[in-house]
Amino acid sequence: MVGKTLGLWAFVLALFWGLGLAQQRPIIVGVSWANFQEERWRRDEAAIKEQLARMGAQYVSTDAQSSAEKQLSDVDSLIARGVNALIILAWDKDAILPAVRKAQAAGIPVVAYDRLIADPYAFYISFDNVEVGRQQARAVYQVRPRGNYVFILGSPTDPNADLLHQGQLEVLQPAINRGEIRVVGKQYTEGWRPEVAQRNMEQILAANRNQVDAVVASNDGTAGGVIAALAAVGLAGRVPVSGQDGDWPALNRVARGLQTVSVWKDARELGRRAAEIAVLLARGTPPERIPGVQKFRVPGDPRNTVVNGVLLKPIPITRDNLNVVLEAGWITKEALCQGVS
Ligand code: BGC
Repeated sequence: MVGKTLGLWAFVLALFWGLGLAQQRPIIVGVSWANFQEERWRRDEAAIKEQLARMGAQYVSTDAQSSAEKQLSDVDSLIARGVNALIILAWDKDAILPAVRKAQAAGIPVVAYDRLIADPYAFYISFDNVEVGRQQARAVYQVRPRGNYVFILGSPTDPNADLLHQGQLEVLQPAINRGEIRVVGKQYTEGWRPEVAQRNMEQILAANRNQVDAVVASNDGTAGGVIAALAAVGLAGRVPVSGQDGDWPALNRVARGLQTVSVWKDARELGRRAAEIAVLLARGTPPERIPGVQKFRVPGDPRNTVVNGVLLKPIPITRDNLNVVLEAGWITKEALCQGVS
C-alpha cells in the first residue's frame, strides 16, 4: 500500500516537473519567406526577430526563392523542426493551401503575413491593401487628372495585386467613365519582377507611340522598371508614377522628382505585430482574442471564406512629406537625398 502511494506521488511529481519543463521551453516561430531577395522583406525580418527575442521566442526561417513547390517543402521542413507557430508570406495563394492544412493537422497556428491566404485557419495580418491602391491612384490623379493611363499590376498569384487594383479603380473609375481618362495599357507583372514591368512598359509605350500620360504601378520594384522604360524615351520625371513600400531607391526617386508617390507601409510595425500574434497563438490565445482583430471576407472567394485578421494603415509619401520617413528613422538623409539637385 505504502509502495503504491509512493509510486503515485512520484508519478504526480514527474508530471508537474514535465509540465514545468514544457512551459520553460522557448516557443519557436518558423517564418516561410516567399522571395527574400526583395529589399523590403529584410526590414520585416529584423522586426520579427527583435520582437520574438523580446518575448523569449526563437526564430527559424526558410526562403522559397519565388517557387511555390519549394515553399511547400519549406513548410514541411519547418514543421519537422518542431516549430510552435508559422508565419507564412505566401508566394502563391492557391498552391500554399495544403501547407496550411498540414500545419492545422499538426496543431500549429499559422499567420498569413502581408498576403491573404483564403483559409480561415490562417490569421491574416497586412496593411489595408485596398487603401494602398487608392492612395497610389489619388497621388497620380492629383498630378494628371486626364489623359492616357497605364496600370502595371502585381503578380497574378498574389491576392494583393487585385486588392490594390480594386482601390486604384475606386478612385479612377469615375474619370474613366467620363472619358477623361483612357486606359491604354494594363498588365500583371509575373513575380512582381522589375525587369518584367520594364518590358511590359516598353511594349505599352511602343504600342501607343509613347503617348502615355500617367502610370499607376503597384509597388516600388515595378515603378523602378517603369521609370527605366520611361527614361529610355525621355519621359522620366514627366509622367507621374506610383509605387509602394518606401524602398530606399524609390524614396530617392521621389526626392529627385522621378516617382510621384511611394505608399509607405512601416514593415517594422507589421513584423512586430506578426511576431507578437504568432507567439500569442502558440501560447493558446484564441484568434478572436488577439488585440485589434477583425473579420474579413475574402474578396472574390466563391466559398465566402471569412478570416480573422489585423489591418494596419499605410501612408502616402510624396515630395511634400518626405520628412515623415526621415523622422521615423526609416531612411537616412544621405540615401534619401543622393543626387538631388
Ligand atoms: C506586398 C508588397 C510587395 C510585393 C512584392 C506584395 O504582396 O504587399 O509590399 O512589394 O508583394 O513582393
